[in-house]
Amino acid sequence: ASGYSLLRDPHHNKGLAFTEKERDAHYLRGLLPPSIVTQQLQEKKLMQNIRQYQLPLQKFIAMMELQERNERLFYKLLIDNVEELLPVVYTPTVGEACQKYGSIFRRPQGLYISLKEKGKILEVLKNWPQRSIQVIVVTDGERILGLGDLGCQGMGIPVGKLSLYTALGGVRPSACLPITIDVGTNNEKLLNDEFYIGLKQRRATGEEYYELLHEFMTAVKQNYGEKVLIQFEDFANHNAFELLAKYRTTHLVFNDDIQGTASVVLAGAVSALKLIGGTLADHTFLFLGAGEAGTGIAELIALEVSKQTKAPVEETRKKIWLVDSKGLIVHSRKDSLQHFKKPWAHEHEPVKDLLSAVKAIKPTVLIGSSGVGRTFTKEVIEAVSAINEKPLIMALSNPTSQSECTAEEAYTWSEGRAIFASGSPFDPFEYNGKTFVPGQSNNAYIFPGFGLGVVISGAIRVHDDMLLAASEALAAEVSDENYEKGLIYPPFTNIRKISANIAAKVAAKAYELGLATRLPRPADLVKYAESCMYSPIYRTYR
Ligand code: NAP
Ligand code: MN
Repeated sequence: ASGYSLLRDPHHNKGLAFTEKERDAHYLRGLLPPSIVTQQLQEKKLMQNIRQYQLPLQKFIAMMELQERNERLFYKLLIDNVEELLPVVYTPTVGEACQKYGSIFRRPQGLYISLKEKGKILEVLKNWPQRSIQVIVVTDGERILGLGDLGCQGMGIPVGKLSLYTALGGVRPSACLPITIDVGTNNEKLLNDEFYIGLKQRRATGEEYYELLHEFMTAVKQNYGEKVLIQFEDFANHNAFELLAKYRTTHLVFNDDIQGTASVVLAGAVSALKLIGGTLADHTFLFLGAGEAGTGIAELIALEVSKQTKAPVEETRKKIWLVDSKGLIVHSRKDSLQHFKKPWAHEHEPVKDLLSAVKAIKPTVLIGSSGVGRTFTKEVIEAVSAINEKPLIMALSNPTSQSECTAEEAYTWSEGRAIFASGSPFDPFEYNGKTFVPGQSNNAYIFPGFGLGVVISGAIRVHDDMLLAASEALAAEVSDENYEKGLIYPPFTNIRKISANIAAKVAAKAYELGLATRLPRPADLVKYAESCMYSPIYRTYR
């Protein structure tokens, strides 16, 4: 290949880091200025550039441009500065990027499959330059974070998630494939936007929708085989539950909004026990929001308690209550409940709102998964703090604007007693002379390591016990030093080590369940996971 195209190939480009020898061997003489720099120096310069931008979206664009120019350097930055850059390439900034994707769009970064490609999806997959794909993240853009229907512009999410698969979980970038399925959008603003990049029609539903999805699922298996992990991301809940139920027995599928969230929140609840006391079975959970996140978390907690106590899951669900937009989910409610809510319809008189539900149910743990900001009001937090010495409060809704409450509110209104974690990051907060560090209940703790475990074991199905194994592995990473600050999650700085441990536990479970195909089983799975992880350090070209 010519030197010119080498410089334009993001997988191989090293910019000024090409050595004298490489410049000679690869026809790069004259195409670069004479200076030769190290990857460290390039990193230093780029971090300086990025830090000087005021707006998060400018930082986001700078990172995207780097990814398109020099992939290894992009990952080097992301890995070495994970706490600083995670909010840039992922929630909350990725949300704003998706909203404005039409105008910041420069170059496609993933595969677009729209209704126009119906009947040709297998051919479309073959247009993607990489053949050996291990992880696909796919969205239809209908429920992007807590921002609603962003249609085709949801592409920012699969792209961002997969960059975390690589940076945090060590899955090779070339093995990652972001896909957006465009069946239209019901977002009027986008439909009327001349810069909108997607199909300008209302969403296909029913048969038409499920036929396209089925063609997609079939084509993926045909093209990549049985061992490609398909992560469903940010589908609206009616489709999310249906697709997961439909394909979990025939494909290697994982829904991060339902299962990944469940696993990360369960880990937080388990580690919080060190601070709030008792066993999981001793606690009473109340959720605001009974969608993908809420019912997914609730079900995994019920399953874990059932494993611990040997009580059937029908019993362990009874200490878990959910409130949706119509009030507490109870048996006697007159409206017809969606099927995923039915297991949670316990015997109780109707309760209209969250505050009354807190008073009636007396939860020890309060979890926000509604997508609606400012719903954990002063009254709600005071009420849950009146019941508990140390209430566990998790405000999961993303992005920051949708958070049920801020860290400051949780600590102030509970008079410094709340154990608090949130979906989007909040800064540490000082209250009465003590500094509280809010934990981030971020799916990025689980899915990269989970995916790595699936990939390295060659698992062909996802089993709930693998999610429990991931939670357990994550909870075990919280140190006494973390607990002292009120943290229920470990810091992100060690995330690659954490991911390797999660991967090992997930893989071990896959082997135990007979779902792993990579044989023989490596003796030391942690070491094996680490040895499989992608490194962003430049390679030398001969
Ligand atoms: P979803 O499936 O659409 O569910 C939303 C639920 O909230 C529904 O049950 C809905 O009630 C309920 N709800 C909406 N407005 C409400 C209100 N004003 N009062 C009470 N309940 C209300 O959405 P999801 O996938 O579960 O996601 C919800 C939020 O969680 C999003 O903001 C998402 O970003 C966030 N999330 C965070 C994490 C994380 O931090 N780790 C992970 C996943 C998701 P109806 O059923 O009655 O409509
Ligand atoms: Mn999501």
